[in-house]
Amino acid sequence: MNTELQAIYSDLLEKHSHQKTFLQTVKEVYESIDGYVTDHDFSDEDYHLIRRMTEPERIISFKVTWTDDEGKRQINTGYRVQFNSALGPYKGGLRFDPSVNEDVLKFLGFEQIFKNSLTGLRLGGGKGGSDFDPRGRSDNEIRSFCRAFILELYRHIGIETDVPAGDIGVGGREIGYMYGMYKEITNRNEGVLTGKDELFGGSCRRTEATGNGVVYFTEALAKANNIEMKGLTAVVSGAGNVASHTAKKLTDFGVKVMTMSDRCGFIFKEDGLTHKDVDTIVEARGNGKNMSEIVINGAVYKEGKPWQQVAADAYFSCATQNEVSGVDARAMIKHAKFIVEGANMPLDDEAVEVVRENKTLFAPGKAANAGGVTVSGIEMAQNAAHYAWSCEEVEAELKKIMGKIHDQCVKYGKDKDGNIDYVNGANIAGFARVFEAMKKLGW
Ligand code: NDP
Repeated sequence: MNTELQAIYSDLLEKHSHQKTFLQTVKEVYESIDGYVTDHDFSDEDYHLIRRMTEPERIISFKVTWTDDEGKRQINTGYRVQFNSALGPYKGGLRFDPSVNEDVLKFLGFEQIFKNSLTGLRLGGGKGGSDFDPRGRSDNEIRSFCRAFILELYRHIGIETDVPAGDIGVGGREIGYMYGMYKEITNRNEGVLTGKDELFGGSCRRTEATGNGVVYFTEALAKANNIEMKGLTAVVSGAGNVASHTAKKLTDFGVKVMTMSDRCGFIFKEDGLTHKDVDTIVEARGNGKNMSEIVINGAVYKEGKPWQQVAADAYFSCATQNEVSGVDARAMIKHAKFIVEGANMPLDDEAVEVVRENKTLFAPGKAANAGGVTVSGIEMAQNAAHYAWSCEEVEAELKKIMGKIHDQCVKYGKDKDGNIDYVNGANIAGFARVFEAMKKLGW
């Protein structure tokens, strides 16, 4: 990166030396925009704006006290990082996982700014959550936690201020409990959370949106690079929302999805998982089962990660950040026609370097998984209009927007030799819109 960006990055390194994940994503974005800002003769003032863009507008941290099934009071920490509102209300998911801390949420919030910008919708970037671990908790305990969490968060969010959604550990059930509490406290029926049930303002296809969007982006990428999707073999990691809908949609396109995984291991089915298999996995997981306990005809369970163990034409990392290492990536590039991030930053620094050096086609999460926030934006529009779109309308709009995101990546990411660097494309396209908005707002 050029000396001006390096100077800003060095300041951040000094100030936030303990926030490694946040610094990792900042470095990636700065390296991507390097050529763009140099070509556009950025002034000192412009560089300072980049520095300001890298600081969250607000970080809220709060105590969440809830009651477990034994009647004992439990305590967790809740957060909301309201990163950037230049383009619209803060928008981004809530994650409930023991790994949640300020570093992780700043990384996710920073990524979210550019992802939301790429959608072309009027959405700022934010992220939140708690170090609460929902695994093994009863429905009653989940409800108790969600209500306690909103009891504090409700005062910081609003339809024109901040509209959270789900993420790891937060699905339709949790959103329902949180929205229920919000309605009780405020006596207002406004779509302050997205990913709601359709009974009270949710959008058709929000649940499937991220996974479906991943596949629409892949479809565009495959087409632009003359790759036939039908007949490809794929490895998918994760078994949650993004992984399951990515897997299902891929099978609709004739792709053979051979794996799904959890934290311990993965299910391998050489003939390809069917929709029914995916449903079995999701249901079993909902009942608290590990992958090793799930029985699927024609499939076996293997320990560890699939990356080095399964050769495939395409890899979809849909679980969590830094789940793919440099060593994994070296194994993947031997076979991969392309690699797609369904999760946020699942390839670590070294893995991204390996993949990009090898010029393997690589779709970064901020572009490929933007389908979730896209349909969240559509849900906000429906709530504001007090009107529900049909499933077909939502799906068509999602597909259209994912295609446009792909086109932007190509526009900003194509090099002189015609190779498309989707990381650069996504970062530059996302950055340019936020930069311009901040400038015009006098920020
Ligand atoms: P879910 O909670 O539904 O599923 C998460 C999956 O990842 C589970 O299978 C979980 O395994 C696995 N996982 C979690 N932590 C780890 C870990 N440390 N190592 C290996 N596997 C792990 O989450 P989502 O599907 O919603 O989210 C997945 C990713 O996609 C995240 O990065 C999220 O930020 C991103 N994303 C999600 C969007 C959405 O709309 N939901 C939108 C855009 C991005 P286990 O069963 O063992 O818990």
